Amino acid sequence: MVLRSELYDITVVGAGPVGLYAAYYAGLRDCRTKLIEMYPQVGGRLISMYPEKEVFDVAGHPRIVAADLVRLLTEQTQQYRPTIVLSERVEGLRVLGERVIELSTTHGVHYTQTAIIAVGCGAFVPRKLDIPHLIDLEGHGIYYYLKSFEALRGKKVLIVGGGNSAVDWALSLDGIASEITLAHRMYKFQAHEAMVDRLMASRVNVKFPYFTLKAVLGEDHVTGAVIWNERSGKEEEIAVDAIVLSIGMLTNMEPFRQWGLNIVGSGIAVAPDMSTNLPGVYAAGDIVTYPGKVLLITAGSGEAATAVNTAKEYILAGYLGR
Ligand SMILES: Cc1cc2nc3c(=O)[nH]c(=O)nc-3n(C[C@H](O)[C@H](O)[C@H](O)COP(=O)(O)OP(=O)(O)OC[C@H]3O[C@@H](n4cnc5c(N)ncnc54)[C@H](O)[C@@H]3O)c2cc1C
Repeated sequence: MVLRSELYDITVVGAGPVGLYAAYYAGLRDCRTKLIEMYPQVGGRLISMYPEKEVFDVAGHPRIVAADLVRLLTEQTQQYRPTIVLSERVEGLRVLGERVIELSTTHGVHYTQTAIIAVGCGAFVPRKLDIPHLIDLEGHGIYYYLKSFEALRGKKVLIVGGGNSAVDWALSLDGIASEITLAHRMYKFQAHEAMVDRLMASRVNVKFPYFTLKAVLGEDHVTGAVIWNERSGKEEEIAVDAIVLSIGMLTNMEPFRQWGLNIVGSGIAVAPDMSTNLPGVYAAGDIVTYPGKVLLITAGSGEAATAVNTAKEYILAGYLGR
């Protein structure tokens, strides 16, 4: 028996930009809202991976530093005073009955009429390369993301990758690092065209297409790299102090499968109204998949608003006995 006082209308799992916005929007729709985050701070990857990086593609902000965006989002979310639970990882989800969902966490249980899953990549690890010595040099010149740019001031940096993150890192370091090389193995960039144009016009030494990282040099710290052109077969040794591998994330979807959610590829399958296959459970942000999904903050915010509206309809239907 779940006490009415324990039962929230909407519980959002994950306080990244999408979860924060979902919690704000749920307040706007007059829902009793709870937000549960496994880290001691909100902000998701904007804080854990790129707090100093500028973001250029959020509506209404021509450019904004990621940490500042999180500060503004938090201020927006706080307006309706949701209950915010930090440092608790949601480990289980069970639909107990009509409009009663149990979320079990590392610290206890929470009850809610509806849940919005906004866990980003969930439990993720950065994608790595099978190169000898690479893992040994993690923390000694091998990076997967850059929480602070200052550590690379005056250094020679190699960035590996050709998506938005790789191009953004290269442009962010321009003027900070003494030399930047970007190596990309595909025949085209996956990044936004305007940012690629900026990259090509910058001082970054772009090795593209078909350039891969073949070896990492250095004993106790990275001192160089061997990059290889797949097409010409030529190798090149370059002196670098740091290598940033920006080649994606690997998400473990198994926990969500165990919750009974329908998983397609590396995402939770959602309908256009952001409902999942479980009653009262919705999802938004990087964790969802549907045709045309883009992994952007703006896209996730729209999904969050849709998820809240669908959840609210479901809650109201309960009160009206539908
Ligand atoms: C290097 C880099 C640069 C990027 N630059 C841009 C950019 O310029 N513009 C842009 O639009 N997008 C950018 N992105 C993508 C953007 O960061 C994501 O689209 C966005 O973070 C997705 O938000 P989210 O809230 O869905 O996920 P996340 O930001 O990943 O947040 C998910 C939150 O859920 C929490 N969580 C996970 N599992 C649990 C659990 N079981 N219990 C409780 N909490 C949990 C996590 O700790 C995290 O705080 C970039 C991504 C990277 C990696």
